Amino acid sequence: MKIRPAEVPPLAANVPQAAPSEVADLLRFAPGNSFAAVDPEATPGFSGSKADGKVAQSLDNAVLSDLQERLFANAAVNGLQHSVLLIIQGRDSAGKGGLVKHVVSALSPHGVEVAAFGVPTAEEAAHYFLWRVYRRLPRWGNIGVFDRSHYEDILAVRMHGLAPQKVWAERYDVINEFEEGLHESGIRVVKVMLTISPEEQEERLRDRLVRADKQWKHSASDISDRAAWGDYTTAFQDVLDRTSRVGAPWFVVPANRKWYSRWAVTRILINELQQLGLEWPQGDFDPAAELARLEASRPKKS
Ligand code: ADP
Repeated sequence: MKIRPAEVPPLAANVPQAAPSEVADLLRFAPGNSFAAVDPEATPGFSGSKADGKVAQSLDNAVLSDLQERLFANAAVNGLQHSVLLIIQGRDSAGKGGLVKHVVSALSPHGVEVAAFGVPTAEEAAHYFLWRVYRRLPRWGNIGVFDRSHYEDILAVRMHGLAPQKVWAERYDVINEFEEGLHESGIRVVKVMLTISPEEQEERLRDRLVRADKQWKHSASDISDRAAWGDYTTAFQDVLDRTSRVGAPWFVVPANRKWYSRWAVTRILINELQQLGLEWPQGDFDPAAELARLEASRPKKS
């Protein structure tokens, strides 16, 4: 009988890259770190070329997909109560949407749930700010991906003056408690802050003005937000300082090179899933007896 081995496929060899746990260690935000000091051009943990990155990525995608399937299978068969929640934040054009597309395309559509959080609808705005977030938490066994998140209830609200400081300033602690609850319940929270340089952003925003296939992405507020670059930097720093926790860490990911940020986030997710030590679930049947039944069930040739 053919049994699938318990080992996940090997990670790419022959590529100058750090192991998933090392990549996570390199990018995890630690108290005292400066967001502004992270070089958006850098490729921590990867010393190869873009072409090497693509090779590594395709192999890592297979690893991530395998781990995700184990998570899904264990939830389905064993009732395992674990899921992963990937939260993606960053400036306009930092590559949030592209990253979502990448992660989703690497996974089985059954095991991934995406939620994008834009300006609250009238119904959402009529509720407590976490209401819309609770409703989009991933099912057990799934990977949830948030394109923006409850952090906009601090960032957008603060930067656009949508509510008094008292309102958004209380939310750091509220969010910490919320995410602690998620962690304790079995939801592994991974928060990614993409960082790009002002020059790179200008190029990407310019593309949106001149390229027919990108004009739909243009938003007038992106240019006014860009003018407040330094204030956003302060707001991101405050979020990182006040909401980086053991069960809900932030990873600051250089994103001028899109191939790097995708590779890095894939490795961070692999590291997270590997920590669950997931084997393939055993069926609650006797394989030999079921094989005998299968053979006996062969339709007779008439
Ligand atoms: P994106 O810019 O990510 O491609 P959208 O065009 O839908 O997506 O823009 C999302 C906008 O919604 C952003 O400007 C963001 O700041 C805003 N937004 C998200 N959440 C909130 C919130 N809770 N309160 C106010 N604005 C928000």
